[in-house]
Amino acid sequence: MARLIDGKALAANLRQSVSEKVELLKAEHGLIPGLAVVLVGDNDASQVYVRNKIIQTSQAGMNSFHNKLAAGVTESELLDLIERMNADPLVHGILVQLPLPDHINAEIVINSILPQKDVDGFHALNVGLLNIGMDSLIPCTPLGCMQLLKSNDEDLSGKNAVIIGRSNIVGKPLATLLLQENCTVTIAHSRTRDLKTICQQADILVSAVGKAHIVKGHWVKPGATVIDVGINRIKSETGKSQLVGDIEFAEAEKVAGAITPVPGGVGPMTIASLLQNTLKAACSQHEVRIPE
Ligand code: NDP
Repeated sequence: MARLIDGKALAANLRQSVSEKVELLKAEHGLIPGLAVVLVGDNDASQVYVRNKIIQTSQAGMNSFHNKLAAGVTESELLDLIERMNADPLVHGILVQLPLPDHINAEIVINSILPQKDVDGFHALNVGLLNIGMDSLIPCTPLGCMQLLKSNDEDLSGKNAVIIGRSNIVGKPLATLLLQENCTVTIAHSRTRDLKTICQQADILVSAVGKAHIVKGHWVKPGATVIDVGINRIKSETGKSQLVGDIEFAEAEKVAGAITPVPGGVGPMTIASLLQNTLKAACSQHEVRIPE
C-alpha cells in the first residue's frame, strides 16, 4: 500500500512556520505583510477559494484586503483598482482570482500587477525568471507540489517525471521546477498518444487535467510517487456530491510508492504556498531578509 502524502499536515506546518516569521518581521522591522485578493463575479468555487485565502492570511498574522467586484465590472475599472493596489505600501501581494468573466482579458490584468507583488507568479516577468532559473515568485500550486514531492524524497535527480496537463498555472511551471531538480520531464496533454504507456514509465506522475479518474490505477508504475492536482465534483453512488481527483485513487494506492489524496493533498499546500509567497514579496519589497 502506498504511503499517503499528507498535504493537510504539511500545509499546517508551513502555515505555522510562516506565522512565526511574520511575528519576527513585526517585532524586528514593524512590517506586516499584506495580501489583497480580488474576486470578480459570483463563481461558487472561486468564492470558496477566496474565503479560504482570506481566512488563512489573517490567521498567519498578515493584513488581508478583500475586493469583491460585480461580474459586470469593466476591464478598465479593474485595472484602476490594480493600479491603486500597486501603489499602496500596505499591499505586498495582489491576487486576482481566476477565471475572470469573458469580457475581461486575464492576460492584460495579470500583467498590470507589479511583478514584485505578483504572488500568483503569473506575470510574464516572473514566468521568464523562473524559466531561466533566476529568483522569482513561483506559482503556488507547482510550488506546493514540489514541497509535497520533497517531503517524500529529497533527491529527485534522474527520475522520470510525467505531468499530465500543460496549463500556465500548473503543468508548465511544474515542468520547469522538476527540470531544475534534474528530473527527465515529459508533459502530456489532450493530443498525447498512448498516455497509458507514458504514465507507466513515470517515477513521478502528476495529473493536472480536471477530469475525474482519467488516470487509471494500472497506469501507475509500481513504487511511483503520484501527485493528484485535479479537483472534480462528482455524484457518489448514494447520490451525494463528492470531491475527487484525476487519479483512480483506490486502485492507484495499491501500486504507488506514495500518493496524495483529494481532498487533503495539493489543495491545502497551494494556499500555504500563497502565504509563503506573500511573506517573500513583503521582505523583498522592504529589502529585509526572510526571518529564519
Ligand atoms: P486547464 O484546463 O487549464 O488544463 C488542463 C490540461 O489538461 C490541458 O493541458 C489539457 O490539454 C489537458 N487535458 C485535457 N484532457 C486531457 C486528456 N483527455 N488527456 C490528457 N490531457 C488532457 O486546467 P488547470 O491546469 O487550471 O487545472 C487542472 C486541474 O487542477 C483542475 O481540476 C483544477 O481544478 C485543478 N487545480 C487544482 C488546484 C489546487 O490547488 N489543488 C490549483 C489549480 C488547479 P490541452 O492543453 O491539450 O487542452
